[in-house]
Amino acid sequence: MDRKPREDHFLGIDVGNTKLAFAITGDNELTFHEKRVVRTEPELGVEQALDKILTNSQELLETHRDQVKGIGVAFGGFVNATRSIALASPNFPGWRNVPLVNLIQDLAPGIPIKMDNDANVAGVGEATYGKAQGYEQAVYLTVSTGVGGAVLFNGQPLAGSQGLAAEFGHMIVKPDGPRCTCGSQGCLEALASGTSIARIARERALSRANLMLELAGRPEKITARTVSEAARRGDGLAKAILEEVAFYLGIGLANVISAFDPDIVVMGGGVMNSADLLLPGAIQVVKKHLSARGAIVPPIEASSIHDDVALWGAIALAHIAARVVSRS
Ligand SMILES: [Zn+2]
Repeated sequence: MDRKPREDHFLGIDVGNTKLAFAITGDNELTFHEKRVVRTEPELGVEQALDKILTNSQELLETHRDQVKGIGVAFGGFVNATRSIALASPNFPGWRNVPLVNLIQDLAPGIPIKMDNDANVAGVGEATYGKAQGYEQAVYLTVSTGVGGAVLFNGQPLAGSQGLAAEFGHMIVKPDGPRCTCGSQGCLEALASGTSIARIARERALSRANLMLELAGRPEKITARTVSEAARRGDGLAKAILEEVAFYLGIGLANVISAFDPDIVVMGGGVMNSADLLLPGAIQVVKKHLSARGAIVPPIEASSIHDDVALWGAIALAHIAARVVSRS
C-alpha cells in the first residue's frame, strides 16, 4: 500500500489587541489547514486573554500532535531583546511582562518557538510569502492604527540592542508637530497613522463644507476610511489632508531609505488599502530627497498580503525556528 509520509506542520499565533488568530499549515502549501480567530477582549483582563491563547494553542497542538515542527508568535506590542517576554501593549493596559514563549513551550515541550513584535513578524511574512520575497535587504513599513516596520536581512528582522529597531512610527518628521502617544512630538505616527488621519480630518471638518462630514454624519464619526472615500469622490479637503499625509510618509520613507539602502520597500497595514491615493505623492517626495544626491530610489510597493500578514509571518517564523534547531 502506498502511504504518504506524514507531513510537517507549523503553528502560527497572532496575539493582537482586538483578535487572537491561530493557524496550522503544512510544509509547502500556502493555505491554512486550520484557522481560528477569537476576540481578545482586553477589557476582561490579562488572565482571560492568556487563557484563550493557551487553550486554543493546546487544542491545535493536540489535533496535530507529532506533526508540529515549529511555532511562531506575533505579539502586538513590545517584546524584550531576547524575544521571550511580551512586555507591554499600548492598547492592552494590564498586560505586563508575560513570559509568553515559556508558557507556550510548556504546552509543546521540545518544539522550537520564536516570537517577535507583530510589525517584525509581518515583515518576515512579506519576505517569505509577499513582495519582499527573494530580496536580500528589505524594509517593511506598516501604516494602520499606528505606524511600525521591520528591517529584514535575508528574511530575518533586525532586532536592535533593546529589541526596538525599526520603530519607524516614532521617527521625528516634524519637530514642532503634534504630540505623539509615545510622549514625543512630531513622530511619523502622529502625522500619518490611521488614527492621526482621522484626528486631522475631525479637526478640520467643521472649518468648511466637505463630503467627509456628509458621509460620517458627525465629526467624531470620521475615520481614515471616510477621508479616503471622500477623496475618491473628489472632495477638496479630504484630498488636501491625504496630500499632507503622503508628504510626511514620503519624508519618513526618505529617512528610512537613506538609513538602510534597501533593495525594496513594502508598505502594509489597513491605511495602505488607499495606497493608490497615498503612495504616488509619497514616492514623489522620496525621489526629490534622494535624487539630490544621485541615489536610486528602490521599488516602493503596496503589500499583496492584505489579510493575515502577521499570521503568515508567524508561520514563517515557525519555519525559521525549526530550521535553526535542525541545523544545530
Ligand atoms: Zn512617537
